Amino acid sequence: MERCEAGDPGSENQRKVFYWCLHCERAHSAEAWDRNDGGCPYPGCDGSAWDRWPWRRLRAVNGYSRVPELGAYYPLYPDK
Ligand SMILES: [Zn+2]
Repeated sequence: MERCEAGDPGSENQRKVFYWCLHCERAHSAEAWDRNDGGCPYPGCDGSAWDRWPWRRLRAVNGYSRVPELGAYYPLYPDK
């Protein structure tokens, strides 16, 4: 297992949990979802707590990076 040095600004994100939204197909931190009462935090998106996937589930499908870029568009099935 790789580990980041303590104090590395990236290490905090490495430990965070992310959820991906089935509606807007964007990833946000679990905290952001929680702050929005479990709904998708992306502006204008109507995704609910039922529409979110753990980021690692999405990664298992298409091999995205360990830490998503927050708010970036990640299609479920990217063009090969
Ligand atoms: Zn959404």
